[in-house]
Amino acid sequence: MFQGPLTESILKRAVDAGSVEINIHNIRDYSLLRHKQADDKPYGGGAGMLMMAEPIVRCIEAVTMEGEKSKKRQKGQKGRDAKFCVSTRSPHRIYLSAAGKKLTQPKVERLAKKDWILLLCGHYEGIDQRVIDGWIDEEISIGDYVLTGGEIPAMVIVDSVVRKIPGVLGKDVSADLDSFSKAFDRKREYPQYTRPEEFRGLKVPDVLISGNHKKIEEWRREKLL
Ligand code: SAM
Repeated sequence: MFQGPLTESILKRAVDAGSVEINIHNIRDYSLLRHKQADDKPYGGGAGMLMMAEPIVRCIEAVTMEGEKSKKRQKGQKGRDAKFCVSTRSPHRIYLSAAGKKLTQPKVERLAKKDWILLLCGHYEGIDQRVIDGWIDEEISIGDYVLTGGEIPAMVIVDSVVRKIPGVLGKDVSADLDSFSKAFDRKREYPQYTRPEEFRGLKVPDVLISGNHKKIEEWRREKLL
């Protein structure tokens, strides 16, 4: 599922440039049961299956241990010239959940400052609550609706967070001047136009072609919603 979003465009370039490292782990590989079973019926009855605690916790522990031992890229260095140092970091563990706190741009900005994020994707009816109680730092929802699994929400987090890593969008583009940014008082962006000046009878607002930068700035401020 992660092919495509992670292997195209800006995310791919960020990975290639060493601005971010993304690793995907299959929880079923951590099952100790026959046929790599990772789900079971919920106690108390009810429809659907729940993901079991054991494979998830074994996966979180293995990934954390692997990362702790791994070599961490020194801050501010990229690509082939990067120097490495041994890290003792541990991940900020997020469970993607419709019942979690809703993702917002300020939250994205806070996550972009984290050294390492672990995203746990649920499936079926969700996961055993004991995993959330013992091994998860926060639950995040991408909106008030239910998806079939946590993979798309995880990709939403990866995409929104990676574009906030300095340098990822390129030096000419600022992720600080977008909808919900601090610079826009957390409001929605103003309307934007490109050539031609008139398209099927619809004109670009005069102020934007006036060349008066002060007026343009004022107009844009007014149009923030
Ligand atoms: N029984 C769960 C409930 O009522 O909240 C829904 C489980 S859902 C079918 C399966 C998985 O999709 C969840 O464990 C979660 O990881 C993910 N998921 C579904 N909707 C989500 C949302 N709005 N935000 C984040 N993750 C979501």
